[in-house]
Amino acid sequence: MKTYLQFINGEFVPSLSAKTRDVINPATSEILGQVPESQPEDVDAAVKAARVAFDTGPWSTSTAVDRQNLLLKLAQAMRDNFEKLVVLEVQDCGKPRREAEFDVDDAASCFEFYAGLATKIHGETMNVPANSFSYVVREPIGVCAQIVPWNYPLLMSVWKLAPALAAGNTVVLKPSEVTPLTALELAKLAAEVGFPKGVINIVTGDGPVAGNALVNHPDIDKIAFTGGTETGKRIGATAATNLKKCSLELGGKNPVIVFEDAPMDLALDWGLFAAFANSGQVCTAGSRFLIQESIYDQFVEQFVAGAQNIRVGDGLKDDTTMGPLVSKNHLNKVEEYVKIGKSTAKLALGGDRPKGMDQGFFLNPTIFIDVDPKSRIAAEEIFGPVVVLIKFKDEEEAIKLANDTSYGLGYGIFSNDVTRTHRVMSKIKAGIGWVNFYHPTFNEMPWGGYKQSGTGRELGLYGIESYLEVKQININLDQQPEGWYPK
Ligand code: NDP
Repeated sequence: MKTYLQFINGEFVPSLSAKTRDVINPATSEILGQVPESQPEDVDAAVKAARVAFDTGPWSTSTAVDRQNLLLKLAQAMRDNFEKLVVLEVQDCGKPRREAEFDVDDAASCFEFYAGLATKIHGETMNVPANSFSYVVREPIGVCAQIVPWNYPLLMSVWKLAPALAAGNTVVLKPSEVTPLTALELAKLAAEVGFPKGVINIVTGDGPVAGNALVNHPDIDKIAFTGGTETGKRIGATAATNLKKCSLELGGKNPVIVFEDAPMDLALDWGLFAAFANSGQVCTAGSRFLIQESIYDQFVEQFVAGAQNIRVGDGLKDDTTMGPLVSKNHLNKVEEYVKIGKSTAKLALGGDRPKGMDQGFFLNPTIFIDVDPKSRIAAEEIFGPVVVLIKFKDEEEAIKLANDTSYGLGYGIFSNDVTRTHRVMSKIKAGIGWVNFYHPTFNEMPWGGYKQSGTGRELGLYGIESYLEVKQININLDQQPEGWYPK
């Protein structure tokens, strides 16, 4: 069996406790290998390494061009190891090959994007009412704790690493214990292309132990977290207690509004992708469809027919278009929601496991119709291939239903009326919107939510700002003393 090691201070090392954990392929239940069960003492060693690298190591005197070059080399190394990363990601988290290929390519592009921005960080000079040369500089924050979930293990890691490193910070990253393999592979590539020791550290323990030790560590300057809203609230409270900078990318229960004038081909194609990409385990998954009543029956019929074409299976098989859920625990959690749905709404498709595939954590695409917007399956984030369809009368009701949620992450609108789409978009309280498509994510655009979907933004210029401190500097140009305390 393959043994993986955590990456601390430029070396792959076991946990000081020697504890390990199995990593499971969710499509086959096979053990892919063992990773260290990182403990607080491992986290401490990783933070110390990152501290030294930031304060006195080569990173502290690196130039923006040095960082740009390293990020570009890392992106190229990912492209050179494309197939290896794709297969590892599919085996580790179960997504179909086509989606994993997109992730690896997008992750490399994210490094390239932030490599470009590394050399564009600049300050400003200000006119102040004194004879002072006054200017503002942006500086890296320091040692960043980065915690990412299991649904996009590689991509979420890169969304965090790329802006932090471009800005000159050092990091300790904790992938989910369920899917640590591609982050470790990335660390290997980073070491090969020449990142100095201590700049990138990866610990592989679980949330309550290693994650908790990381966010509570006194030498951490910033916490960046992506995950569930409840965990995010706890981490935000810890950050507030210790006055750490903190950004939180959390969950969503994202509405997709289909108006009667929608381009139906696009609404069906992108609508199915909104609901079932990555088996619905996407923070922005279109999980709450709002359909105008005049087209409701027609849409339901075609949406269900489209979902029947989804081929559930091992992501490494060529014809698979939807993989398993990430773990047995998560499958059980999603099935609990299916049970609730069966007792409160009408099941139009799925709700069961595919026949003869008990070796993996598979669930068929599941569609509930005629759903009460106040019911649990319509209000709570299920994070699986389970979608609810709700009928609305007019634009006003659609907006009301769309905003009737504690979340505010993603939303979609399908309509050919450009005036209507602008009008509706301006009223939706959420951070990421798509009109007449769904899910494409751009490194250039800010990512994050309103309300309980988080605080702060990743990606784009916004993403790098969150890894920079702003400092004002004032230089007195007067040679004469002011005479504050005359003799
Ligand atoms: P969790 O909140 O359970 O876990 C996320 C990460 O936090 C994991 O690395 C986990 O470690 C860690 N963690 C768990 N408990 C603690 C703790 N007490 N202290 C520190 N770290 C902890 O979320 P899931 O992994 O279940 O991911 C799914 C959630 O992530 C969904 O709600 C989804 O919407 C959200 N998400 C949001 C995105 C966004 O951009 N807004 C993007 C992707 C997902 P471990 O798993 O090892 O226990």
